[in-house]
Amino acid sequence: MSHQHLEALDVAAIREEFPILQREFDDQQVVYLDNAATTQTPDPVVDAMSDYYRESNANVHRGIHHLSQEASNAYETAHDRVAEFINADGREEIVFTKNTTEGENLLAYAWGLNELGPEDEVVLTEMEHHASLVTWQQIAERTGATVRYIRVDEDGRLDMDHAADLITDDTAIVSAAHVSNTLGTVNPVGQLTDLAHDHDALSFIDGAQAVPNRPVDVKAIDADFYAFSGHKMAGPTGIGVLYGKRDLFEELDPFLYGGGMIRKVTFEDSSWGDLPWKFEPGTPQIAEAVGLHAAIDWLEDIGMERIQAHEEELAAYAYDRLAAEDDIELYGPDGSDRGGLVAFNLDGVHAHDLTSIMNDHTIAVRAGDHCTQPLHDKLGVPASTRASFYVYNTREEVDKLVAALDDARQLFA
Ligand code: PLP
Repeated sequence: MSHQHLEALDVAAIREEFPILQREFDDQQVVYLDNAATTQTPDPVVDAMSDYYRESNANVHRGIHHLSQEASNAYETAHDRVAEFINADGREEIVFTKNTTEGENLLAYAWGLNELGPEDEVVLTEMEHHASLVTWQQIAERTGATVRYIRVDEDGRLDMDHAADLITDDTAIVSAAHVSNTLGTVNPVGQLTDLAHDHDALSFIDGAQAVPNRPVDVKAIDADFYAFSGHKMAGPTGIGVLYGKRDLFEELDPFLYGGGMIRKVTFEDSSWGDLPWKFEPGTPQIAEAVGLHAAIDWLEDIGMERIQAHEEELAAYAYDRLAAEDDIELYGPDGSDRGGLVAFNLDGVHAHDLTSIMNDHTIAVRAGDHCTQPLHDKLGVPASTRASFYVYNTREEVDKLVAALDDARQLFA
């Protein structure tokens, strides 16, 4: 998609809404490039949450009193806002979880544990985050199902011929990341979903690295289930979303049980309440739901297309600058077609050492396997350093990252 027509972001104005970006350590201003792990939270989101606690705090669903009504209304409306944001068919399709990981587990336990058997196959990709990979491995172990992995090719893209071979009538579910948190690859999740549906299998899309950075339309993808986290999209920690098609959610048994999710309880038996509450037992994340609502308002005020364009531009710039260095190994597709992150290694320097040197410059990047150990095994490295961008990042910050590499070379040469 060309973004030539899109007006550039006013990054200076955006940064003013993030006091944390003004913080200094050792007289150096923070350069925050760890956004794939967690993004920073703008003032309007923090304000919405503190206003909620100051003015409307109460438990939801249960009260007749004014405050409980206000809290319930805020909590329920947040579901509507999320539904609108990803083009779902209303709050019934939006379950609030703790994070993406819990969304994966909810589906794996509520559906996988009950429905899978030794004849079934679960198809993942080699670039899945542990949130998906470990969860399905465990469910497969308990049910006797087999896990298969769609190959990642030399360029860091899914081998779609392999996907077409692997997804068969034995496939029960295809679970794939929309955007890889390590390679930055944007996967053809609509195509994967079509392949799954051709074989009467379900599709689950892990949107943790997609929803924060690009417009996502679950109907256009036709995903059966789709999960993401509030804390990676300018929202608070402690809240995530599991989207599911209404008829599929209707058929599914709850994952967790307790108050707030029942219709009728007797000493003998219980029946479940309406969607989405049937999947949200106990006191939920009310303030966090308010924060997520505010974060979506904030993001849409800027415009998801513009956010995507800004990040793609920064990622391409970072990729090109790093690719120009002889001693840098980069992972994933080249600069023009990737999400807003770049993972790399500097020859002869362990990612943890490099990241520690970056920290000496108050540059926040992440070292490790990024919860994709099998993918790192395949790449033949134990770890990588990852720089990941968001709306408030600039080219100058990328320049600082590249300049700091010299320190590492001097120390370790
Ligand atoms: N999936 C992907 C692709 C991710 O990048 C992440 C976070 O790093 C997760 C899942 C897990 O997200 P959370 O820790 O919010 O559950």
